[in-house]
Amino acid sequence: MLLHAQDFDFFYFAQQWNPASCDSKIKCCYPTNGKPAQDFGIHGLWPNYNNGSFPKSCNKNARYDETQISDLISSMQKNWPTLSCPSNNGTRFWSHEWKKHGTCSLSMLDMHSYFQAALALKEKVNLLQFLNNAGIKPDGGFYSYEAMKEAIEKGIGHTVGVECNIDLFGNRQLFEVYVCVDKCGSEIIDCPIVPESKRCKESIEFAVFESESLLDEK
Ligand code: 5GP
Ligand code: 5GP
Repeated sequence: MLLHAQDFDFFYFAQQWNPASCDSKIKCCYPTNGKPAQDFGIHGLWPNYNNGSFPKSCNKNARYDETQISDLISSMQKNWPTLSCPSNNGTRFWSHEWKKHGTCSLSMLDMHSYFQAALALKEKVNLLQFLNNAGIKPDGGFYSYEAMKEAIEKGIGHTVGVECNIDLFGNRQLFEVYVCVDKCGSEIIDCPIVPESKRCKESIEFAVFESESLLDEK
């Protein structure tokens, strides 16, 4: 059997905590269709190898053709908001994720199936609910990193990875959650390898969106 360079073992389904994308040293901009919900948003669906390495930008000829996913765009605007600057409609973020990661799972998912799989996973994995069930609420307060990770793992029934970033005041805060998914992009699995958490400490902030006025001053 011929092995293709883009063969892979599993996906990381990466979600970002939207307020933490804005409350960091990197300037954020709301997408043109409006301020995102105070919720997790999709970052990407990333093909990975069991040893922790990963393929990227696998097919330079594969174009990002938004007409193929026109039925998904309104759901992507809600569930996969872009927070990078300058403010834009999301096409740049989605196109980047497709070219860097999506083209490496073409053996399993075409472009429409890839974006649809990510949206279906977002529906299935309600991280905010899992945290809420453990009494962990986004209130700008500090919570134990272990407690946050455990609350998510209890809700999902599988191991996950959690990463932090640093807010404007130097506090470490919950930033991203990595859930592991089988090659079909549908079943959640225990992570064959949990991404190392480089920036979290024992106690981390669960940030809220800062006020519009503060954002203007940045
Ligand atoms: P960072 O260095 O900020 O953790 O990651 C930067 C980017 O590299 C991510 O947004 C993602 O595109 C890619 N990346 C980082 N870690 C992984 C990984 O473990 N697997 C895959 N597939 N991509 C990753
Ligand atoms: P990755 O880290 O996945 O390789 O790359 C993310 C790229 O998408 C970066 O170039 C970043 O500027 C762009 N981008 C656009 N919107 C967002 C967003 O909301 N979050 C993240 N992490 N990256 C975004």
